[in-house]
Amino acid sequence: MSGRLRVALVGALITGLLLAIAVALMASTGNKALAATAVVLAINVALVVSLQTFIGNTGILSFGHVAFMGIGAFTAALLTIPPAAKKTQLPNLPSFIRDAQVPPLPAVLIASLVCLFVAALFGLVLVRMTTSAMVMATFALLITTYTVLLNWADWTRGSEGVYAVPRVMTPWLALAVAVVFIVIARLLAATWMGLQARAIREDELAAGATGIRVRASRYAFWIISASLMGAAGAIYAENVLAFDAGQFSFATTFALLAMLIIGGRESVLGSVVGAALIVLVTEMFSRVEQGFSIGGFELPRISGTVQFVLALLIILALIWKPDGIVGRREVEDLIPGLRGWAQRSTTPTPGGVPDRSGFGLDEVVLAGKGLSKSFSGVKAVQEIDIHVARGEILGLIGPNGSGKSTLLNLLSGLTAADSGTVELCGVDVTDQSVHSRALGGLGRTFQNIRLFNHLTVLDNVLAPPRSEPHEAAGLLDQLGLLDVASAEADTLAYGQQRRLEIARALSTQVSVILMDEPAAGMNEEESDVLLDDIRALAAEHRCGVIIIDHDLRLITRLCDRIQVLETGRTIAIGTPDEIVQNRAVREAYLGDAVGAEDHEGGM
Ligand code: ADP
Ligand code: MG
Repeated sequence: MSGRLRVALVGALITGLLLAIAVALMASTGNKALAATAVVLAINVALVVSLQTFIGNTGILSFGHVAFMGIGAFTAALLTIPPAAKKTQLPNLPSFIRDAQVPPLPAVLIASLVCLFVAALFGLVLVRMTTSAMVMATFALLITTYTVLLNWADWTRGSEGVYAVPRVMTPWLALAVAVVFIVIARLLAATWMGLQARAIREDELAAGATGIRVRASRYAFWIISASLMGAAGAIYAENVLAFDAGQFSFATTFALLAMLIIGGRESVLGSVVGAALIVLVTEMFSRVEQGFSIGGFELPRISGTVQFVLALLIILALIWKPDGIVGRREVEDLIPGLRGWAQRSTTPTPGGVPDRSGFGLDEVVLAGKGLSKSFSGVKAVQEIDIHVARGEILGLIGPNGSGKSTLLNLLSGLTAADSGTVELCGVDVTDQSVHSRALGGLGRTFQNIRLFNHLTVLDNVLAPPRSEPHEAAGLLDQLGLLDVASAEADTLAYGQQRRLEIARALSTQVSVILMDEPAAGMNEEESDVLLDDIRALAAEHRCGVIIIDHDLRLITRLCDRIQVLETGRTIAIGTPDEIVQNRAVREAYLGDAVGAEDHEGGM
């Protein structure tokens, strides 16, 4: 991970350097308006980077961050306006605030803390919502905060706004601020927390099933980004002298989102590029908006020009560059050799996988007892008992719709059982959530592959909480994925994706792994190789395996024991030989199993 932080730091400093060049070019012309624009650009970078910290890492759109900008700005204003000026503007302020005068930097830090507090409270509700409800809630936060700021005239002077905020920003100071924000955002994204947030962004359900705490991760990014936004809002206030609540509403939200979406929301570089582009466009078109003359020809004022152009740019970006101008790339991805240089020798080299031979082989690692589940009348699973011991491979077969996937979902906690219990390594986990069971040593793969698609193969294996970084390369090597370790997961061939799911599950130090049709879609040769690998992995990792497949040939070759389901019930259980001889199985299953079945809709 330290190699990752080093790359992020180098990348952040180069991104900062690009911004510095732009600021220097604008500030050195001697043109006052251009120097002022340079400050606006740098402050906008700080604002967008704060927003990007949330949206980029969690993938959740927030309309609410400008509320924190407003809270931060007013906090800074109330703290830094000289007491004499506050007495005339805001006579009803409580005296401890009216008489206070705090220097600019502490004011920024206090503003940030106030936002942290507000975000921490609101976040408690927010993270309990579904993703789409969260987006709506952030929107409500924006409107509520705006309304409060507008009507709380004793503190904000309502629509008249506050003035005489001491101006401290110069182009170079604003640049320094922007670089600090860029460095924080890049380092944060490069930590394990950032990686987990992006894993959730890619697949919330799969992330939970590897033990990642979805709510905690979102909560952390929500409050961190809100604190950053509050600080950026305070810095905004320390540049504009006067402002009112109207600055913290739709127009600003829209402009910041435009910067983020057009630049590339999943990249800090994208925030900088987007901010530069939009600040330029805004400057140009706000002149048009105010009416101007070309060659003696007077153009009228056209209000709303800036909004119109921003809307147009967003639409064009969404059509041609849905991931933004720079996409998911950071600056080090654009400079050949830079990443390798900064990372030096941290490319994965396969080490050994630890020897787990101390574990007893007959210990039951997972047991379900009397498990039942109905879906609106359909008895998908009825009174099923199932268990697997460490090092044992249990095959689960049965015709389509016989309840195999549902049974795995009950065991892994993805679906709550109507009745029955689940024990993991001797602990009753019936009431535990998916991620708790994962942390307890239960891994799984999905019938429809669910990888963290836009993360690299290595990151897919590193993201789970119990993943051991020094084992990751060895694991990828065992599954034949080391050569593609730095490729994005969704660029892999189908069979490789199946293998990566297994690697990801194994990376969490599993005691038991549940595999839902890992060989589906593979040809006979590929599945033979895969099943050999599974046997070797189960032995090496000393974990129990429950594997679903409908190819009886494969299952009988691979498994120590086989359990046969039909319409939600166990109809047979035994060694492969016993199962092949079993009459009920031959009647119920064999006639149905030979043809390729269409498996849709399972997990
Ligand atoms: P299998 O994996 O053996 O093919 P499943 O466990 O996917 O079988 O499905 C068992 C039965 O439960 C099927 O009749 C299926 O239609 C039903 N079922 C599974 N999941 C759901 C669900 N989420 N909602 C409603 N019915 C479901
Ligand atoms: Mg299934």
